[in-house]
Amino acid sequence: MNVYKKIYKEIKKHKKIVLARHIGPDPDALGSTLGLKEIILNTFPKKEVYAVGTPAAKHKYIGDLDTFEDSMYEDSLLIVLDTPDIKRVDGLDPNKFKHKIKIDHHPIVDKYCDIELVDDTASSASQLVIELVYNTPLKLNKEGAEKLYIGLISDTNRFLYSYTTDKTFNLVSRLIKDTNIDITKLYNNMYLTPISEKKLQSYAILNMTITNNKLGYLILNQEKLDELGTDAATMTNIVNYLNYIDEMITWVIYAYDKNTEMIRASIRSRGPVINTVATHYNGGGHVYASGARLNTFDEVNDMIKELDKVCEEYLNEE
Ligand code: AMP
Repeated sequence: MNVYKKIYKEIKKHKKIVLARHIGPDPDALGSTLGLKEIILNTFPKKEVYAVGTPAAKHKYIGDLDTFEDSMYEDSLLIVLDTPDIKRVDGLDPNKFKHKIKIDHHPIVDKYCDIELVDDTASSASQLVIELVYNTPLKLNKEGAEKLYIGLISDTNRFLYSYTTDKTFNLVSRLIKDTNIDITKLYNNMYLTPISEKKLQSYAILNMTITNNKLGYLILNQEKLDELGTDAATMTNIVNYLNYIDEMITWVIYAYDKNTEMIRASIRSRGPVINTVATHYNGGGHVYASGARLNTFDEVNDMIKELDKVCEEYLNEE
């Protein structure tokens, strides 16, 4: 039996299903989870399906989340999306569930579920859910399709990144044809930005340090964040808007996160492999899009040296 059929069989068998994803959710984590919830309920209206985890105000338009309760550990099927490592599952302990499934597109970190649909060549977790739907009797509806589309579009940056393949386009084409979703309406929600955020993006560009090896970096302590009237999550997210600047092949933003009392790093690259460096600093992620959590600004300096070396080696190989 293939993995899609195995997942479908488990979904069909369980009355209660809990859908989880990683901490600090992005639109793919939320879209894949909330999209799958819609589709399971559309197929099996009598099931109880909960999409749990801490909400993210910025992505509220994708949908509302359910509150996790300890009673859900009993007799529920757990499906974790978009999360390669067990320690980053948001708000619950996967080990306390008897039956668990993982659907993910990151390089493998932990194998922590009985059934794992993992494909690190897939553009997004949302793409894997679309594949699941089209390989099983799960019934797609418009609400589910909208959420999956948002997740896929966000993780591929509108089909820009390299893991956008003919399969991605074929699945999206079929999704739009089958459900008639209004993609222009969805973009209005996804891309409307307050001018205050645009000003922060400008701040980042104006204040980036760029090395001879084309590494761009910006370091923000609490004092600087207060002065700018912003927070770590908002500032590190700006890395997503800094691609295709000729002078940088890798760029990273560090910001002190007062909630965790750690320094959060978001790294992006247009060539050098960065996730190996991220793993040295309590982090990980994709080859060209990674994150890390550091304890001190000394560690930040060490990491910058390491990233700069990776950039230098990359330039020498070219
Ligand atoms: P971000 O820069 O936070 O958008 O994260 C980029 C990618 O790196 C995502 O796939 C994250 O799941 C992953 N990532 C971010 N932070 C960490 C971390 N501390 N540990 C492992 N993976 C991370």
